[in-house]
Amino acid sequence: MTDDTQCTSRNIPLPLQREIRQRCGFGCVVCGLPLYEYEHMEEWAQVKRHVADEITLLCDRHHREKTGGLLPKEVVRQANANPFNLREGVSKPYDLHFAGKHAEVVIGGNSFTCEDRGYGTVMVPISIDGVALVGLILGDGHLLLNFVAFDECNVPVLHIKNNQLFYSMSPWDVQLVGTTLTLREAHRKILLEIEFAPPNKVVVTRGRFLRNGVEVLVRPDNILVTNNSTYISGCHAHNCHGGLILGHHERPMGGFMAIQGIPRYLGDRREALKFEKECQEGAP
Ligand SMILES: [Zn+2]
Repeated sequence: MTDDTQCTSRNIPLPLQREIRQRCGFGCVVCGLPLYEYEHMEEWAQVKRHVADEITLLCDRHHREKTGGLLPKEVVRQANANPFNLREGVSKPYDLHFAGKHAEVVIGGNSFTCEDRGYGTVMVPISIDGVALVGLILGDGHLLLNFVAFDECNVPVLHIKNNQLFYSMSPWDVQLVGTTLTLREAHRKILLEIEFAPPNKVVVTRGRFLRNGVEVLVRPDNILVTNNSTYISGCHAHNCHGGLILGHHERPMGGFMAIQGIPRYLGDRREALKFEKECQEGAP
């Protein structure tokens, strides 16, 4: 042990935590659950140091089993060498606890609300080219959240299918802390930050929705479609089937704001960002 790794604080430095998350597949190494703790495989009291290779991720249950002696250290070590999520290529699904007769989705400060009007009530706050990136189904007290996020290569990286959350192993970082899910493309580059407020509210606070060359930037107080400099701020739609409906939809979908002919990759991103700034400065 060298002096520079010896440490008196039990707090693991953040870059080290991220390294451990990546290595462990953003989940408990034994079962893949996205809710976990950082666990020193060597006894902390003995080593008193933070080395990424000596720390693993365990969910509450497996942590408790290890501490209690029901889960042998050797099994944890084997799981650490071959983490569940990396083996599967996808995270273990996690059930979000949504329910009720009313729902609210907030995207960049714009709010979409709906109430159950009989079985099969559907609200699609954002859809691009026929793919509902965010969608809700209400009926019989059930509130089913659906969500899909694509990366720059048009590959889906995050899914919520009828409240079941799972993600691929390709993002640079995925973190569910408390009620906040953060996907990062790189250091300080957030792909999406989502705040879950069960039983019936979801807030997309920042990031970008990407699909087929369309980019929808989400800021805490506005949405900007960079392809054609569409700026949306402070809007509210209630019981509106569609919200922001972009691109071609085989089955035409009415929307709060529907834009069919949207340029792909042709938008001047710099001009769009300049326009956004002007809009923000002009806002009351
Ligand atoms: Zn576990």
